Amino acid sequence: MKYKIKILHLYPDAMNLYGDYGNILTLKKRCEWRGIGVEVEEISVGDKAHFEDIDLIFLGGGQDRGQSHIASDLQMRAPKIKEEIEKGMVALTVCGGFQLFGKYFKTATGENIPGIGVFDAWTEAGSKRLIGNVIVDCRKTSSDWVLSEHFNSQETLHTTLVGFENHSGRTFLGQNTKPLGQIIKGLGNIGDGSFEGAVYKNAFGTYLHGPILPKNPWFADHLIISALKRRYDTYIELKPLDDGLEKMAHEFAKIRAHNSKSASI
Ligand code: GLN
Repeated sequence: MKYKIKILHLYPDAMNLYGDYGNILTLKKRCEWRGIGVEVEEISVGDKAHFEDIDLIFLGGGQDRGQSHIASDLQMRAPKIKEEIEKGMVALTVCGGFQLFGKYFKTATGENIPGIGVFDAWTEAGSKRLIGNVIVDCRKTSSDWVLSEHFNSQETLHTTLVGFENHSGRTFLGQNTKPLGQIIKGLGNIGDGSFEGAVYKNAFGTYLHGPILPKNPWFADHLIISALKRRYDTYIELKPLDDGLEKMAHEFAKIRAHNSKSASI
């Protein structure tokens, strides 16, 4: 195998909701189908990790108590994670994981769970949960990476994300962090239908479960390209795949989102 990437899955035992693990499978398969080697390592609280040799980290969503359980272990690793993100390490963080990559999450019971501040963002629980199917347009908010040379595309399939949100937290973004996209359908970071997620360098935060990557293959490929760039310090073009099923899933999720109502419960 000419190329390989190394993925580190953080706390899969405590942080894995609504099929988040499917993101790892998607990255793995999309690499394997192209002859790119993949090593996936998992760590739990207390395990050793060598972030300097990792190309992509993934942290899924979790209930408040799962977040609380991992918070101090994650704090210990914060300097190393932040150093490697500055050097191009890729990160995908979903919902509860996204919240902990911000500065803090204040839960509905008043607990203040510290985050590691990769994103200039903070989260406070609202009185109602924000639940529903979501469509996000990434073109305007994150144009520097979405419309990069990798995609060369105004095609919405390469700039739209679909997924499912279910969170109590409202995530506010500060000056130094851009949103991942603009909400077309759904409630988003603060529940007002404006913005979704966050981007800082190659670190992405999103509220989208479902899992997000299988039905947004362009985003999965963006992460793979960025992980390869981290390892080999050059842009490696990915062989196109037959994404017929993925595209159908993407379109179906869009229709479902358009036909359904989001709820604050
Ligand atoms: N516990 C967090 C919240 O309710 C995250 C939920 C999630 O990861 N789906 O906001």
